[in-house]
Amino acid sequence: MSKSTVTRHEIFQTSLMSALLDGVYEDEMTVADLLSRGSFGIGTFNGLDGEMLIIDGTCYQLRADGGVSKADLGAYTPYAVVTNFVPHIESTLPQNIVRTEASTFIDKMTASQNYMYALRIDGDFEWIKMRTVVKQEKPYRPMVEATDEDAIIELHNVSGVVAGFRTPLYEQGIGVPGCHTHFVTDDRTAGGHVLDFKLRSGTAALCLGTDLRLQLPLTDAFKNANLAPDDLEWQIQKTEMHA
Ligand SMILES: [Zn+2]
Repeated sequence: MSKSTVTRHEIFQTSLMSALLDGVYEDEMTVADLLSRGSFGIGTFNGLDGEMLIIDGTCYQLRADGGVSKADLGAYTPYAVVTNFVPHIESTLPQNIVRTEASTFIDKMTASQNYMYALRIDGDFEWIKMRTVVKQEKPYRPMVEATDEDAIIELHNVSGVVAGFRTPLYEQGIGVPGCHTHFVTDDRTAGGHVLDFKLRSGTAALCLGTDLRLQLPLTDAFKNANLAPDDLEWQIQKTEMHA
C-alpha cells in the first residue's frame, strides 16, 4: 500500500480486554454513545449480559439462552470495538472451509498484518459453533472463572454474518490478537461469539484500520484493576478461544 492511496480510518474502542479479564464488567458508555462512534462492531454488555454485535447500524444483544434482541439504546457496555465499516478489500472465499482455513485466506487478503482490520463474512454455514457469556452477579469474578459456565451452541445449515476484528499481536491485552468475531443469523434469531465453523460458501470484506481511538473507563474498578497479569496470553486463549 503506498502512502498516497491510503485513507486513514479510525477504530474506536472502549476499555481493554485485560480489564474485562480482570472482572471490570461495568462502565458508563451506552449503546447510543457507541453507535455514534461506529455502525459496525462487537463487544459485550454490563455484567456480561450477552455478546454484542453491531451491523449496519443496529446493535444486537445475543444472550446465553440463545435469544437475540435489538439492544436498548440506554444499555451499558464495559468493552466494545466499533468502526464505520468500509469494504476496502473484498473476496469470495474458497468453498467448504473451516475457521482456521478462512483465517489463513483472510490473512493473505490483508496488505499488511501490522494494521487492524474490521472483518465481515456473509455466508452459508454447514455448521457454526459459538459461545455466549452468562450474565454475572456481583461481586464479579475474573473472566476465566465467569466463562466456565458459557453456553455453547452449535447451529447447522444457517446463513448469516460473521463480524469482528483482526487485531495484531502487539495489541494483546488491549484487544484479542487474531480474529475475534461474533455471528448472527440472517433472520436475526440466533448468534454468539464464534469459536469455529465450516463455511459452505461466502464472501469476506475487510476494512483497514489505521487509527485506534481508545477510551478508558473512569470507574474505581478500572483504576484498581490488574491490567498486566503474567498469564495474560493464557487468559485470553481460555476465555476467547476456549482452548
Ligand atoms: Zn466475543
